[in-house]
Parts: sequence; C-alpha cells; structure tokens
Amino acid sequence: MRCPFCKEDDDKVIDSRSTDNGRCIRRRRRCLRCQRRFTTYERIEEGVKLSVIKRDGSRVPYNRDNMLLGIQRAAYKRPIPFERIEQVVDEVEEFLVSHFEKEVSSQTIGEKIAEVLRRVDKVAYVRFASVYRQFEDVGDFIEEAQDVIERSAHDIPGQQNLFEGKSDS
Ligand SMILES: [Zn+2]
Repeated sequence: MRCPFCKEDDDKVIDSRSTDNGRCIRRRRRCLRCQRRFTTYERIEEGVKLSVIKRDGSRVPYNRDNMLLGIQRAAYKRPIPFERIEQVVDEVEEFLVSHFEKEVSSQTIGEKIAEVLRRVDKVAYVRFASVYRQFEDVGDFIEEAQDVIERSAHDIPGQQNLFEGKSDS
C-alpha cells in the first residue's frame, strides 16, 4: 500500500482484525520510510444492491450495466476512454452506496450521473441530460449549454429511458 503521508509504497502490517461480523478485515500498517501508521480495510467486492424506484413508482433491481450503457451512448464518438466511463460509474456507485441503503429513485441516479459526467465531458453531459430530461423533469440542466446541444443534436443517442430496463438493441 502506498503511504498516504509520504507516498512510499513500503509498509508493514502491524495488526489485522476482522470487523463488521467478519465481512471486513481492518489492517493497521506502518510505513517503513516515514514510520507513520495508517489503516486499510479489505472487503468482499459486492455489487450495488439497491432497488431503483421508477417514475411510475415501480421498482427494478439496480443494474450497473444499464448505467454504463447509458453513459456510453452519451459519450458516443467523444474522446473518452472506456476506463474513464467506468470511473464515472464507480463514482456514482460510491455515492449511491454511501447515501442509500435499500432504494433510490431513478431521478437521483440520473442527476448524479449528470453531475459527474459534467466534469468529464461537456458534450456527453449535455447529451445525457437532454435524453434524461425527456423522461424526468430536471429543469435547467440544459439551459447553460444550449449551443452545445444544438451542435450535437444530430447524434443524440437513443431516446429511450436509460434506467427503466428498456433497450433498443
Ligand atoms: Zn510514509
């Protein structure tokens, strides 16, 4: 592990214990360069287990692939590497996991994606927001970048709802 203080990747585990009913291992480590201590947590990787509440009130299981697909469509022909798109998804998932326990609205997911995407690529953001807006009223997402929408309007991706399990493929 890279030391959070001096960035050296050379440490020694000084204590290791199970927490969270055995679902998590907590390790105390000491950096062999600066001697400072830090803690790491090791967990089994679990997918996000949330119900997504659709606009009509029905629920579907959260699906990472749907989100990935939606963002990929918005990023069509944009210079965004796939890993970057995955990072967007990871960031949204991190937000979801830390803020919601059982269920989350599709609108909340959409807004979060838009927020993250906006920092990555303006055009993809606007495309995403404009598609998204057709089924969830998110008001003024679009206004600030009307010109970008118009320039990219010819290749706005599919008009379907990205989070309600429908697909045009
Ligand atoms: Zn260090």
